[in-house]
Amino acid sequence: MNDEVTAGDPCTVAGQVVKLDRGFPLVRTASGREIRCEHAIALVKGEDVRAVIGDRVTVEVPRGHDKGIISAVEPRVRAFVRKDPTDRALPQVLAANFDRVIVAQPLADVNVRRLERELVLAYETGAAVTVVLTKADLAESERHVQEMRERVEALTGPDVATLVVSENDPASIEAVRELIAPDTTAVLIGKSGVGKSSLVNMLVGFNLQETTPVREDGKGRHTTVNREMVHIPGGGNVVDMPGVRGLGLWEADTGIEAAFADVEALAASCRFRDCRHKDEPGCAVRAAVEAGQLAPERFESYQTLRHETFDLRERREEARRLRGEKASDAKKGVTNAHRRRTKKRRN
Ligand code: GDP
Ligand code: ZN
Repeated sequence: MNDEVTAGDPCTVAGQVVKLDRGFPLVRTASGREIRCEHAIALVKGEDVRAVIGDRVTVEVPRGHDKGIISAVEPRVRAFVRKDPTDRALPQVLAANFDRVIVAQPLADVNVRRLERELVLAYETGAAVTVVLTKADLAESERHVQEMRERVEALTGPDVATLVVSENDPASIEAVRELIAPDTTAVLIGKSGVGKSSLVNMLVGFNLQETTPVREDGKGRHTTVNREMVHIPGGGNVVDMPGVRGLGLWEADTGIEAAFADVEALAASCRFRDCRHKDEPGCAVRAAVEAGQLAPERFESYQTLRHETFDLRERREEARRLRGEKASDAKKGVTNAHRRRTKKRRN
């Protein structure tokens, strides 16, 4: 496919969505040309396939137009999916075709419950997972840094690297850059204010994204809502996902199994295979909590996330019944295609 177009010529180009500009995908071609696009009507009518950041697409640029029309979206190798925060039973894809999910948490203020949820979502994608503990300079001491690193490592297990970074420590940023090899893409998730934009700026080497200082008038902070895929000179790409407020789970069984391997291992010894770890006799999970071998907060967190997926599944079943579909129709969703291909987690 020819990528270079002479003005006025109709042409077809292949590219990747690097930004959603007020809902219009911005597509970057192999030569670096960027084309603002809209979706072909045929594409959004039936199945409502809308391109997200990272999607590989085919674009038609009609004669005399500078705007392109996305005529096809390639099947996703991987997707970051959460529950649509505005709808009770629909998935929302936030990014596609990445290799790594980087979960950012502030070192001096790690929110373990949120981290558990972020890890579930990250593992569920099948991508490699890394935790980055930011603003290490705010830690009280080197010992504090070590303690936090160990606490987080105990949570993530041995397969996940935990990096400690700080704005004023270039070597720490370099370690993140090395993770994001040329031709690979990393997605950065984390609560607003943890330092994601600052990290992206340091990775890229200049002030690309506006950071979010607390406003002088004290009226809260300005947050960037544009998600964008940014190229790191000499490295790969990074997608900052600011403005991701709710992290509701969608399909998450694989993610929960990976993020709570300790609880799952205990559950394997429960007397009943479908033990809900509530009041069943012979529950190994509750026994471990009572014996002080499993932290009650972690058990509670596990139960909360499990219930969330159960509830969601019930609501989806209900919605399907109302639409008169068979349960088997559900298997055709976006997320299943990527699940099949990403069964094995890499690190
Ligand atoms: P985002 O919302 O996750 O993109 O967070 P920002 O990158 O906008 O950072 C939020 C605030 O934290 C800003 O005021 C930054 O200057 C500050 N910040 C970011 N990185 C560091 C760091 O390494 N150390 C310290 N002390 N502050 C940082
Ligand atoms: Zn049990």
